[in-house]
Amino acid sequence: MAKKQFKAESKRLLDLMINSIYTHKEIFLRELISNASDAIDKLAYLALTDQSVGLSRSDFFIRLSADKEANTLTVSDNGIGMSKEEMEENLGTIAHSGSLSFKAAMEKQDEIDIIGQFGVGFYSAFMVADEVTVISKKYGEDQAWKWQSSGADGYTITECEKDSAGADIILKLKPDTEEERYSDYLSEYRLRALVKKYSDYIRYPIKMEVESRKPTEETKDDDEPKYETVVEDQTLNSMVPLWQKNKKDVSDEEYKAFYREKFFDFEEPVGIIPISVEGAVTYKALLYIPAKAPYDFYTKDFKSGLQLYSSGVMIMDHCADLLPEHFRFVRGVVDTQDLSLNISRELLQHTRELKTIAANLEKKIKAELLRLQEQDRAAYEKFYAAFGRNLKYGLVSDYGMHKEMLQDLVEFHSDKEGKLITLKEYCEKMPQSQKHIYFVTGNTAQQLSKLPQTAMLRERGFDVLLLTEQVDEFIPQTLDKYADHEFRNILTDDLDLATEEEKKAAEEKAEQFKDCVAFLKETLGDKVADVRVSNELGTHAVSMVPDGGMSFEMEKYFRTMDPNADLKAGKVLQINPDHAALAALQSCIASDSEKAKKYADLLYQQGLLMANLPLEDPTAFSDLICSLMQ
Ligand code: ADP
Repeated sequence: MAKKQFKAESKRLLDLMINSIYTHKEIFLRELISNASDAIDKLAYLALTDQSVGLSRSDFFIRLSADKEANTLTVSDNGIGMSKEEMEENLGTIAHSGSLSFKAAMEKQDEIDIIGQFGVGFYSAFMVADEVTVISKKYGEDQAWKWQSSGADGYTITECEKDSAGADIILKLKPDTEEERYSDYLSEYRLRALVKKYSDYIRYPIKMEVESRKPTEETKDDDEPKYETVVEDQTLNSMVPLWQKNKKDVSDEEYKAFYREKFFDFEEPVGIIPISVEGAVTYKALLYIPAKAPYDFYTKDFKSGLQLYSSGVMIMDHCADLLPEHFRFVRGVVDTQDLSLNISRELLQHTRELKTIAANLEKKIKAELLRLQEQDRAAYEKFYAAFGRNLKYGLVSDYGMHKEMLQDLVEFHSDKEGKLITLKEYCEKMPQSQKHIYFVTGNTAQQLSKLPQTAMLRERGFDVLLLTEQVDEFIPQTLDKYADHEFRNILTDDLDLATEEEKKAAEEKAEQFKDCVAFLKETLGDKVADVRVSNELGTHAVSMVPDGGMSFEMEKYFRTMDPNADLKAGKVLQINPDHAALAALQSCIASDSEKAKKYADLLYQQGLLMANLPLEDPTAFSDLICSLMQ
């Protein structure tokens, strides 16, 4: 019998499939099961309107049969089936755009990794099979047909026998090679795992005969029962996915068990968000907020994204476009009928549906985090310890375009409360007289709370946010304001605290210490950018502060990134005119200028120590102190 030739395009696609070096060959099963499910959908739909079909929903099924002797795997369904013409039309041609884009990607070898995302349809069977046979009878017709092909050289269609409507797709598997054990596709274990992975939520039962050892009927109640091997039908898929169920019908424990099994995280999630939306885009989603960061979360290796299902079929394992970067720790699934199964990843990114869903999910995630923050602070702190940094990075990235979304979620160490607080909490507790949000950046909260400037604000009853992570330093700049309060760096900005009287007194003091300041400047030379009188040092004689917005820590950080960076946080030595040490210096300048120089040096080095900056010469510093003690 003469072979018919495939249409040109199909032939090329088939060639690619047969010679595929693609590593995700296993998806052929997903494709065949999905075709079977579509075929059943069609007949089930007909049955709704046409009584004579005589089948109800529960009569439909898909069956996998593995025949180890014949080396064949068969996927059968009792759906609508195909007529001879339809076989010709559907199996001899590339039917849809998914196949075409798959082909395009296959031809660009370097993109080979991404093609798991394509619905590649019926032809994907040729990735694992030497020969494919389709036996099918169209519903309502008497004659069944057999389509057969061993690849690109063509196919035959002949008459055959089949009792009822539906299709059997029979794959004669390729011989095992070193790279691929095709015979694995006959193992119950493998098939079970593949159905779970890709087709768990197909709406019809996917059945398979499985063997198990059971006590015989006669001996099952005995102390030592006899065992026999029995073959029984099992349904491999769970059919109704948890996220399709009504929230009130699912227990907390079920949600948690699903999370454990699906995402292999044995720590309970801190938040669970079931979502059901009907509208412009209809979808269901089930999201989880993990309690701890995976070990690779802050590396390039971490794969973010949600699992994307289209009508119960998984089409993408990590759909990153569904989550913004700042919430990339969220895990979960999204299921919508509004996306085609065969859409390519590139196209998907640009679909309006996906964008709508993503925007909506972002809002839901924020709402859940705020709820946790208010109602279960311990859980929020746990979450924040794991992912807070990611939120802060999100806040300062993209020119601050996510600040509305994130500013209420970030927390900082409070000097007053000795724990993490939000900006909202900071502002709510401000005394009436406080105008600004005070912050300071540095290494540890402990060090920062001991700074004279922090102590001075504390005395006035004002809280200071102690910012200790590198990314923190950019946050005040990015936010500029929170609830109409400006951010003020207590080391470098005008704190706006002094009354007119205090300002006047300060000016007088500065005037009195004019000579002292000039002496210090001359003695210290370019070691300092400036010397200033400050009334904000409390009981401390001096303090060293940067002369611009950049902290000493930030300068260090930039320098480790680029040793030649043209950046310098100049040092400003602040002196306390009310401190006895300064009075001592002042009286010394006139009487003993050698000693005064030593004092100047001493005050400078103390400033360095208090700012946690390295001494230029620790031995000389120690000798200096001793020389003054003598
Ligand atoms: P797609 O399913 O994306 O249209 P495929 O290449 O997988 O593309 O299948 C081509 C066509 O063959 C299907 O659209 C369908 O009409 C037909 N077909 C495939 N499998 C079956 C089946 N099990 N029963 C009935 N028709 C089928």
